[in-house]
Amino acid sequence: MSKSTPYILVIDQGTTSTRAVVFDDSCRACGNASREIRQHYPQPGWVEHDAEEIWNTVQATIPEALSAAGIAPNQIAAIGLSNQRETVVVWDRKSGRPMARAIVWQDRRTAPFCRERQSDEKWLTERTGLVLDPYFSATKLNWLLTQNPEWRARLGRGELACGTIDSFLLFRLTGGAVYATDVTNASRTLLLNLRTTAWDEELCRYFDIPLNRLPIVQPSASDYGTTRGLTVLPDGIPIRGVAGDQQAALFGQAAFTPGQSKCTYGTGAFFLLHTGTTAVVSQQRLLSTVAATTDSTPQYALEGSVFVAGAAIQWLREGLQLITTANESEALATASDDSLPVVFVPGFVGLGAPHWYAEARGALLGLTRNTGPAELARAALEGVAFQVADLIEAAAKDAGTPLHDLRADGGMARNSWFLQRQADILGLPVLQASQSEATAMGAAFLAGLRAGVWSSLDQLRQFATTTRRFEPRWGPAERTAKLRRWRAAVQAVIGFARDS
Ligand code: ADP
Repeated sequence: MSKSTPYILVIDQGTTSTRAVVFDDSCRACGNASREIRQHYPQPGWVEHDAEEIWNTVQATIPEALSAAGIAPNQIAAIGLSNQRETVVVWDRKSGRPMARAIVWQDRRTAPFCRERQSDEKWLTERTGLVLDPYFSATKLNWLLTQNPEWRARLGRGELACGTIDSFLLFRLTGGAVYATDVTNASRTLLLNLRTTAWDEELCRYFDIPLNRLPIVQPSASDYGTTRGLTVLPDGIPIRGVAGDQQAALFGQAAFTPGQSKCTYGTGAFFLLHTGTTAVVSQQRLLSTVAATTDSTPQYALEGSVFVAGAAIQWLREGLQLITTANESEALATASDDSLPVVFVPGFVGLGAPHWYAEARGALLGLTRNTGPAELARAALEGVAFQVADLIEAAAKDAGTPLHDLRADGGMARNSWFLQRQADILGLPVLQASQSEATAMGAAFLAGLRAGVWSSLDQLRQFATTTRRFEPRWGPAERTAKLRRWRAAVQAVIGFARDS
């Protein structure tokens, strides 16, 4: 290991944990560390994080990751950051201290605000690509400033700062010198004009947030200053890449051009389809969002999510106790009898895009005396794949271009039986990411590109290797028949919810 080999340090600040990952100049992860972060649920539907604790986990994981990689801080060429999106923090500019706990993206406390203003959703969607939902930052920031009117005045005087997790961490990493946010994070706030990719005056007025006090919006790969005043790193290490987690994963899977897509299969599943330099407004309530950018030209993506993915497998394990590890679902499904076609609609918390039926609940259809654990495991995995297929079909329709393939990452993407079935159902090749670190890798790509460690997107494509390619095996007739059964099951579930 030569002293001159440049390394990239990535901070991946997620909803449940913070990770630090060191990548070498071939973009191989060569050291990492992680810390859980505490979830606070002060009331039903409320979810908060302590931003100071988040900062502490960043400081704790950095030295551990460097030591796991066996490198010294002066070997870091640049820092990249990926983060949980939409979560908001208000902090004091002088001390850097948060004024209150951060309101997390999952928090639903602003549901009444959104309900009251439902009639404004149309223009908000047109302007931002999002929907008026408690999920997004501006509703949460508005709540904080309405509860604490003096904060709004102090924000106006420049004594306080506010923003998403990226801007808070940038502020702390640079000793308060940088007050910025990356464009992908900004695109999740409801304050960014999707087309100009700048803060929008009318939107800021609507949510009563002072535009001139918001962090500066920058391309994902750009100059975010250098480290300053930290105990865990020396001064002067450049920070050169920032992106929200899902956009980072899209970039980390080398999906840089229109028609390329990725799905991250974790507890839920997040699908993003790159749509190039055009912002596509969805006809089916998918989100239009900004993809990671390497210069001032905006790049866009369509985004949709499935609430229950790995959570269906968790249910087999914890709820039904059919399996003891999630991995066992693969062997079980492989052993299942395909002539016993059970359909599982995993609508535990309602159906999302493109069905949008919040009151629906899950169902198992087609049970016989011969249905056993293997058939249930198969149906659960298939149920996730069918939901994602519906989402992808909707996105492809919106984009008006067919997909080339689907890149898969996340916990469920370790299951080969599942990925094969996803390919069969989609009628498209599914590529299994070889790094389980697509999110962190995306941040590394951005930082390394900007810092000159790597010179082109082509070079990055070589790093985003896939372990396996799953080709669809079903013929058109079989595919149509299986999709018809699935859709009949979804309709049955919706009918049941409507009539009961
Ligand atoms: P998150 O980031 O949401 O915590 P992960 O990407 O770590 O999720 O994935 C964990 C989820 O993936 C769990 O819900 C688990 O049930 C599921 N999972 C993990 N391994 C497998 C597997 N081999 N087959 C199916 N599901 C799996």
